[in-house]
Amino acid sequence: MKTERDRRISVSRKPGLPRWALVSLYLGLAVLPLFLAATGNVPPASPFAEGAAAAGMVGMVMMVAQLGSSGRSPLLSGRIGIDVTMAFHKWAAPAALALLVAHPILLAGPFDVSAPSRILARLGNLLVAPRLMTGLLALVLFLLITLTAVLRDRLPAGYGLWRLSHGVLALVALIFCLEHMLAQGTYAADQRLRLFWLVLTLGAILISLLRHLIVWRRAPWRVADITRAADRLWILQLENRRDLSFRAGQFVWLRFGRSLSDHPFSIASAPCEKRLNFLIQEAGDFTSQIGTVPVESHVAIDGPHGSFTLDGLPKSDTLILISGGVGLAPILSILSDLGHGSEYRWIRLVHTTRSQSALIAPEFLKAACPSAEITILADDATAGDAPVGRGPLTPEHLRTLLAGVDPFAVNVLICGPSGMMTFATDALHEMGVPLDRIRYERFSYGSGPVSVKDRRILIGFVGLCAAVMAFAFGFTLR
Ligand SMILES: Cc1cc2nc3c(=O)[nH]c(=O)nc-3n(C[C@H](O)[C@H](O)[C@H](O)COP(=O)(O)OP(=O)(O)OC[C@H]3O[C@@H](n4cnc5c(N)ncnc54)[C@H](O)[C@@H]3O)c2cc1C
Repeated sequence: MKTERDRRISVSRKPGLPRWALVSLYLGLAVLPLFLAATGNVPPASPFAEGAAAAGMVGMVMMVAQLGSSGRSPLLSGRIGIDVTMAFHKWAAPAALALLVAHPILLAGPFDVSAPSRILARLGNLLVAPRLMTGLLALVLFLLITLTAVLRDRLPAGYGLWRLSHGVLALVALIFCLEHMLAQGTYAADQRLRLFWLVLTLGAILISLLRHLIVWRRAPWRVADITRAADRLWILQLENRRDLSFRAGQFVWLRFGRSLSDHPFSIASAPCEKRLNFLIQEAGDFTSQIGTVPVESHVAIDGPHGSFTLDGLPKSDTLILISGGVGLAPILSILSDLGHGSEYRWIRLVHTTRSQSALIAPEFLKAACPSAEITILADDATAGDAPVGRGPLTPEHLRTLLAGVDPFAVNVLICGPSGMMTFATDALHEMGVPLDRIRYERFSYGSGPVSVKDRRILIGFVGLCAAVMAFAFGFTLR
């Protein structure tokens, strides 16, 4: 008979599309306008004009696809995870931008190296032509959006304001781009292509706007309690008459009251618990005020999202959990869930913090899953401060975690600061743990160290972008 826990698990399992389906979808979408153009009634122009058209069309599809890879669609990111989705979002933008920048340059061709001023003059004429104004505005906006995203950590504006402007400017740029495609595109006369651009662009914009509206109208949750757990660390508890079905380790976007911005937070409680708990660290404008949120105030939830769960991991006797700072939140959810019943014989957790004052009470962790072997480290602990060991995490600690088990057969989940996750992933991999048995989730999408696993994912992205470019090149030379 199905238990309440089993029922919640089956209800909440939304695996999303597998990697191969996403790659095919992306390639298919990027190639479709080229196919429509090649098989339509408009005769091919010069190779430069055709190259410009291919760069513009593929660049536009890639920019529209950025709406889908913004991490809000469980269908698209449910299986590959938010880290891979956001990494793709970050890397695909410059590739799409390069194509859009190449578009007017190719249109100004052919290039005569002996008369460089001629091509510059032609390019200048194109850029100031009133009929091409929407295309130019779209290009400038895409440049601005990409540049401010790359330089995000150095901008004076808060993250919330940047994120709002990022989304709004992207929608405006896409509308300008659509107008340019329909009015001026080399293939603007092709009815099938016109329909393609209208459906693709307006469809993506509408879906993304409607999604936000529908999600934020969902029955609001209410703050049941907010208490300090440690230095700059809070436990927020939310209640609702309706349950939220999720998998241990997932996160949600929370929007408090009528605020325009929302924030992602991992659920720190088990799916079978009545209240939703969150561990929130003071990090910036919003979180530094979290302790002042009034009890009973309303909170809207968008989620659950993310694949930082135990789903789909190979079978194993041993589960190793590694958390740093507030990265404990999803790990705590998983630990509590395992505390209600687990297939793992051994569960080993190492939790690290910068200082003992930032540590959540060790009894809290023990109560979550009494059978787990728990090691706690703090960077400022002195030897003999048991039960707290001296941090930071070293290869020695990782070797202890692997003691007596086959590294090839353990499953590992890591959440914490970027540097710690990169170090632990690479070190464990060197000690024999296969990369497909190591999962991690980032709490920040800014630049940071990359692990062996990140590099492999990046090579995959480069391969995908190269395939898209190859199709555009093939179209030009047809
Ligand atoms: C998947 C995920 C799960 C997370 N879970 C937790 C958690 O359980 N507990 C916790 O304390 N924190 C968590 N965070 C981080 C948390 O979202 C940010 O600390 C918080 O939004 C900061 O908001 P702020 O206004 O206080 O700070 P700001 O000054 O606005 O931002 C400080 C930094 O936080 C990051 N950040 C802010 N907003 C976002 C956002 N919308 N998306 C991604 N990064 C953002 C940026 O790196 C930014 O530089 C999580 C982040 C992600 C991506």
